[in-house]
Order: sequence, then C-alpha cells, then structure tokens
Amino acid sequence: MKKVFSNYFWIISFIIINIVFGNTAVLAAVGTTTENAAAYTTIYVAGNPDCYPVEYYDQKTKCYEGVLPTLLKEISDRTGMDFTYINASHSDHRLSMARNCQAEIISAVTDQELDQVAGISFSEPILSFKKDGQDCEVRLAFTAIASQTLQEKMTEALNTVSQSEISAMILEQSSRAGRPDDRSPQLILQIMILMILLVLTVIILFFCVKLQRRNRADQMTDVLTGIGNRNYFEYYFQHHISEQFRALYVVAYIAFDIEKVKNFYGEAKAEEQLRFAANELSEYIGDNDFTGRVGDAGFAVAHICSGEENVKQWISSILLRLNKYCIKFGIDYCPYFSAGVYMMKSSDRSCTTVLYNAQQGYRHAIEQNVPFVISNAKMLREEQERKILLNSLNDAVNKRQFQLFLQCIVDGQTGMVCGAEALSRWDHPKQGLLRPGNYIELLEKEGKISELDYYMFEETCCRLQNWGNKGLPLYISCNFARVTICREDFIEQIEAIIKKYYFDHRRLILELTEDTLETNKSTTFHNIARCQKMGFRIALDDVGSGYTSFSDLRDYMIDIVKIDRSILSSAVNEKGIALLQGMISFVHNLGIEVLCEGVETEQQFEMLRNMGCDYMQGYYFYRPVPYAEVEKYIR
Ligand code: C2E
Ligand code: CA
Ligand code: CA
Repeated sequence: MKKVFSNYFWIISFIIINIVFGNTAVLAAVGTTTENAAAYTTIYVAGNPDCYPVEYYDQKTKCYEGVLPTLLKEISDRTGMDFTYINASHSDHRLSMARNCQAEIISAVTDQELDQVAGISFSEPILSFKKDGQDCEVRLAFTAIASQTLQEKMTEALNTVSQSEISAMILEQSSRAGRPDDRSPQLILQIMILMILLVLTVIILFFCVKLQRRNRADQMTDVLTGIGNRNYFEYYFQHHISEQFRALYVVAYIAFDIEKVKNFYGEAKAEEQLRFAANELSEYIGDNDFTGRVGDAGFAVAHICSGEENVKQWISSILLRLNKYCIKFGIDYCPYFSAGVYMMKSSDRSCTTVLYNAQQGYRHAIEQNVPFVISNAKMLREEQERKILLNSLNDAVNKRQFQLFLQCIVDGQTGMVCGAEALSRWDHPKQGLLRPGNYIELLEKEGKISELDYYMFEETCCRLQNWGNKGLPLYISCNFARVTICREDFIEQIEAIIKKYYFDHRRLILELTEDTLETNKSTTFHNIARCQKMGFRIALDDVGSGYTSFSDLRDYMIDIVKIDRSILSSAVNEKGIALLQGMISFVHNLGIEVLCEGVETEQQFEMLRNMGCDYMQGYYFYRPVPYAEVEKYIR
C-alpha cells in the first residue's frame, strides 16, 4: 500500500515540477561545431535505473529512459559527443562503476546520493522535482577518469539547453502517463484491488444493514400466522401505550385448546385455525389497538375500552368472530376460543404481568366453562398465593415437611381395622397443615410429584417394618401418581428403598389410578408385573370416577378395586344401588377384591355389608390421622 502511494507521488509531484538551472539557466548559444566532435571519443555513462521520470531502466526497451537520456541525446546531437550507457539493467551499478573507473559520467545523482558517489566533481543541478514531499535536485557526477576538458565541455553543453527545452522533455515524460515498465500494471492492479475492496465493503455493509433490519422484523413476526409475535406485542406495549393512557386499555388473552384440535384433526387443522384467528383479529382491531400471537394457541389484544359492560361487549364480539371458524369450515366439534381480559391500571408497567393477569382470567374461563372472564383482584390474589405456595413447595420434600397420615380401612363384614391408606399432609411453615388438594396438582405441574411418592413410599415401608416388629398384621396402601408408575426407573427406585427395610411385602398395596393404565402401556405393564413379583398387591383407585376399561381389569391382574365414593353417594335410588351392586359383583366375578370408599353413614355400611363388599373406608369409621394415633385405634 505504501508503495502505491509513493508511486503516486512520483507522478503527482511532477506536475508541480520546478526546473532549476540556477539563476543562469538560460544560456547563450555555445558553438557546436563538428571540429569539436572529432575531439571526443565515446563517453561512458553509468545510468540510474530507478529515478523515474528523470532516469529509469525500461524493461521493454532494455535501455535507460527519462529526461536525462533525452537530454544527453540532445547534447550529443548538438555537440557530437557520443554518450553510451553501460551495463544497462534494473540494478543500480553507478557506485561500483565510479569506483572501478568504468564510466566517466554518473548520471542522475540526487541530493541524497551526493556523498555516496565517488565523483570528483558534480555538475550544477540540472533539474529538481518533488519526491516524497521534498525538493530533490538532480546532477551529473564526473568520475576520476573524466578529463577536465570533458567536464568543461559538458558544462558548456548543458548550458546550451534552455529551461523551456528541459520543461518540454519533462512534460513529454509525464505525458506518457506513468512509467512504462512493470510498475504501471502493478499500480493499476493495486488500484483495482482497492476499488474492488471498496465496492465489496459497501456491498457487505449494505447487506449487513438489510440483514439486521430483516432479523429485527423476523424476531417480531410469528412465522405461522404472519402477525406480530410476543416480542412485537411487548415492544408495542412499551412504546405505544404511554403512561397517561394506560388506564384506558384492556388486554385480552384469547386461546383455544390446541392439543385437542391436534389430537382430533391433526396439526395442519390446528395451524389453519390459528391463521384464521390471526386474520380475523388483525382485520377487526381498531387503529389504536394491537395484537400478537403470544403463545402456542394464544393471542393477545390490547384495546382502548372503558367500563365493564363495554369490555364484555367487545370481547364477546371478538369471540363470536373467531368461533365462526368452526361453523365456517363445517367442523362438528371444535374447541372454541375463550378469553381472559385484564383492565389495566395506570400503575401497570410490565407487559409480562399484564399478560399474566389476562391469562389468569382465561384459566378461570376454562375452569368455569364460560366464554370469558374478566380478571379481578381476588382471582389475582389467589393466584399470587398459589405462586408463593409453589415457591415454598420446591424443597418441601427435602426439608421433610410432608407427614404420613393414615386412614384406617375396615373389614367389610366385621368392621374391624385391617389396614390403612397412606395419605400425605404438608406441614407448611406458615400456613399449617395442608391437604393434598392444595399441592398435588402443583407438584404434578412442576414434575415433582414422584419425589413425594417415593418419600411417602419409604415412610410406609418404615411403618410396616415397625408394625411387623410389634406383631401387628396390618397392611398399608400407598398412592402413586400416574407419572411415577410410568417411569422407566420406577422399579430401580422402589428396589433401592425396599432393600433398607424388612417387612412382609404382601402387606404393602400400591394404589394406581385408572388413567395410569392408559399411559405408556408397555412400561406400566412391566412395572406393575415387577411389583407383583416382589410380592406387592395392586389396587386400582377411584374406579367409576372416570373412564374405566374393563379389559384393563383383566390385563393388569389387579388385586383390589377401590370403588370411588361418588358411586356410593349416588346409591340413593334404585338405579344407583343397582350400579353399585353390579360393580361389586362384576369385580368379584373377575376374582378381584372390592373396597368401597367414602362410607359416611351406618346405612351405607349396612348396605355394603349386604352387598358383600370386602373392605370399607370412610369418615363413618375413621378420618385420616397422624401415624402415631392409628396404633391407638388398633389396640
Ligand atoms: P384418594 O386416594 O382417593 O384418598 C382418599 C381421599 O378421600 C382422602 O382425601 C380422604 O381424606 C378422603 N376421604 C376418605 N374418606 C372420606 C369420606 O368418607 N368422605 C369424604 N368426603 N372424603 C373421604 P385427601 O387426604 O385429601 O387426599 C386426596 C387425594 O390426594 C387422595 O385421594 C390421593 O389421590 C391424593 N394423595 C394423597 N396423598 C398422596 C401421595 O402421597 N401421593 C399421591 N400421588 N397422591 C396422594
Ligand atoms: Ca388412594
Ligand atoms: Ca380414592
């Protein structure tokens, strides 16, 4: 790069060339006679190969070119002196030629070279030019073998050449547009490379800016529906709703059960429904509103609206539009859109919180099976409490905050205690003793239910060992969530626990719910079979509360069926009683024992005894109590 610029400078500085011949540059004519010519033999000149455009070696002509060769030629023409450049090449031999007395004249000696050239004398400066920003004078040097006569004649001859002639020579060299050797193409090449690099840089910069813009747009667009995504919604929320208008806005979270659509009609149909909704929403919303797909099946809409009645009207009309999809496409069954609406306050700053509040309304709408719910303070407070509970739930198992409660089970004929069901209670540090309804669902959602199950199982094993030692021949049944039984490592975990305790395995019953048998069938089947091999009995819990496949009772080799308490509480008329009786008989016919849950009255007890129910459990007999109290009942 440096070289390129220095080459440039050679050319550019020559434009402002300054010719110096001293003050006596314009010379009177000196006699140029042919008689003089006879006096000279060939004068050898050592040329400067690298002083463009004053003198340089030309690769093409293999000669020195430039102002000085032209000048010497001119002098030769005028005086008859014969100059011959010796040993012309691109290497500079001037110093060695001077030392070896091979040349009389050393050509194109610059100021910087004055000390180096071993000449006995120098001519007056012939010309000067700017090189690398500095004035530089050029002269001829006469070596030791140059005679005094030669020096004088040369001086005279040089004086015959006028300033304007020298200028003409210089101009001629300059007009050649650069040095005619290999530097020119190199320079052009370098300039071209520079230009290409420049163009490339501009192109890259252009694409970078474009890419950055597109990335930003991509980050804010939902690929499936083409409308804004959650980033877009949050961005607009922050930049569009100024503080003074916040209280005018309502934010709705609108969604449908996408999993249901996927399961019933497939992924493509679910996507179609989403696209339809996105289209409808973007068409329907007002100028000051904005919308985005903020979740898998959820859209958010921010809308200016005041008064609960207006909000209800607005959200109803939106839901009507969206739910037209099912009618429009003639689908018999289609999960409808429901909504949660949150009416903003001027103190609401976080979009995440506002969306969360709207989502709570949606959650309640689903639970209550209504089209929409406007989130209210009570609802949000409860949700907040749930969140707090969840935080303290995280290491409740590790901190051994769960307790084993037992609800005694009685023999169906004698009414005597024969066993118990293990039920957990959470001894919450602030809220006191909590029942499973407060935490089981949370633990399931957090994927921590298995931790509780294994903990309760170990507690059960420990009590069974204790009872065994005391000679109490009672059994305990232990609840297992569906996800626990379906785990690949279930048997491994169970084995690791039971090897720590010694008790009769027939006294331990594993309680599974009906839905367990529907999930991950092969692993569940394998796990249940392994448990039976270990000697444990299997009870199917809450039978009759939901979907029951009779073939499961056959395939899974269930030992005990626990009939859900809803069946017993409905056995108040002929049909209800017939159902209960039918179930007990049916299960007995399969060779399975029956336990009836939720026995609360003496009549129920009598009825079940007459029906031949094997075991009973309910508040009529015993409520769940801490482990230590159970021993009192038994005794
Ligand atoms: P479950 O297995 O059906 O347990 C029986 C539930 O019915 C218990 O509720 C018990 O207190 C209640 N109950 C018993 N007799 C009567 C009665 O006569 N009338 C009425 N109304 N209720 C009665 P609890 O203790 O609140 O447990 C609720 C559920 O929590 C249990 O239902 C069980 O599914 C689950 N659960 C409890 N502990 C655990 C556990 O450690 N792991 C798992 N996975 N689930 C557990
Ligand atoms: Ca149970
Ligand atoms: Ca039950």
